[in-house]
Amino acid sequence: MNTQSTTVYRAAILNFLSDPDIDGESAYQFFQDGALVIEHGKVKELGEASLVLASLATDVSIVNYQDHLIIPGLIDTHIHYPQVEVIASYGEQLMDWLNNYTFPAEGQFEDKAYASNIANFFLDELLKCGTTTAMVFGTVHKQSVEAFFEASEKRNTRMICGKVMMDRNAPEFLCDTPESSYDDSKQLIETWHNNGRQLYAVTPRFAITSTHQQLQKAEQLLSEYPDVYMQTHISENKDEMAFVSELFPQAKDYLDVYDQYNLLGKRSVFAHGIHLNNREHQRLRETESSVSFCPTSNLFLGSGLLDIKKLEQQQVSYSVATDVGGGTSFSMLQTLSEAYKVTQLNNNKLSPLKSLYLATLGNAKTLQLDDKIGSFKKGNEADFVVLDFNSTSIMSLKQKKCKTLAEKLFAMIILGDDRAVKATYVEGHCAHQRDAIR
Ligand SMILES: [Zn+2]
Repeated sequence: MNTQSTTVYRAAILNFLSDPDIDGESAYQFFQDGALVIEHGKVKELGEASLVLASLATDVSIVNYQDHLIIPGLIDTHIHYPQVEVIASYGEQLMDWLNNYTFPAEGQFEDKAYASNIANFFLDELLKCGTTTAMVFGTVHKQSVEAFFEASEKRNTRMICGKVMMDRNAPEFLCDTPESSYDDSKQLIETWHNNGRQLYAVTPRFAITSTHQQLQKAEQLLSEYPDVYMQTHISENKDEMAFVSELFPQAKDYLDVYDQYNLLGKRSVFAHGIHLNNREHQRLRETESSVSFCPTSNLFLGSGLLDIKKLEQQQVSYSVATDVGGGTSFSMLQTLSEAYKVTQLNNNKLSPLKSLYLATLGNAKTLQLDDKIGSFKKGNEADFVVLDFNSTSIMSLKQKKCKTLAEKLFAMIILGDDRAVKATYVEGHCAHQRDAIR
């Protein structure tokens, strides 16, 4: 890897400065013939190609991506790497889907070699789809997270991962104890949190699978390591919610279970949150916690339609995610396409600019990582994706009919998938290059 030299990438380039629903055209920068200058793996400059190139030394290397669009690396805020093989499993809603498909699959991750194979596959699949950062669940096994971080370190990807804490309502072979979950998580934090680009998330699976004692241990970890993340699930499915209120009769609602153990905060990401009440929205807002919107999963498991406009009215921050293997695609483009459809079913609209904002800077903000990734701000880590407007026959045909940037982006989102990703760069280094399609 040569990160010492300066490289200029020339293409159409788009990146966001803020939320386009709030700030309109001043929320983004778009250069039809743009130049992105990368030095030592960091963003050095972005601008019109004619101006940028005139100011640079004549011996810099220039990579031309004509008819392509460069955007920051895509960010996925909720995904399970041990569920790669569970994807596309037929016929169940959440609780049966966990018991019949997911738990048996996760049992295999006791074997570290098995975990390493899947971790490598998983990360390559993400890169193929243009995703350079994800917030990832491991299994209950400490070695599953070691395998994951080792695979991520090899690719230099910025990843957040955590060992699942789960000590009840799961098969015995997948249960830890409050003490062992604390000890394993602590060791993983000490070894991996802020080790290179790797970050740790304390990961109680959900309220159903953790005892009072284990949730106390999660609380203890967060108080001992205040800069680690917290990830879990909430209000995905009606049966799940009924079970939670049976297990925690004293809690005001689902969120209050987590709140009682001080698991809320600006680095806390709650997947789904489809059926939250106003009080829960208020607590999420007050604590700057965020909800992760997983449209392909919510549709696939029949969980429901998250109303993101309601979250906006309630000023609850949210991000967008795949939730593979409940989700049906690794592609954030496909995920945004389904997000659009869910929003339509709620009688609202999700614009293409807002969609791409969410998958880049918006998601980076909910992860408190917007000082490092999510845009081409000077000094940011140079993670980016090269999208191909001619990746398929139908994409090519449609793009020729599109007149505005918004129309072109919308067609890219609705018709795009991994085939639309020509190349993915991680800290200035090409980590995926698509084979010729035809
Ligand atoms: Zn999930």
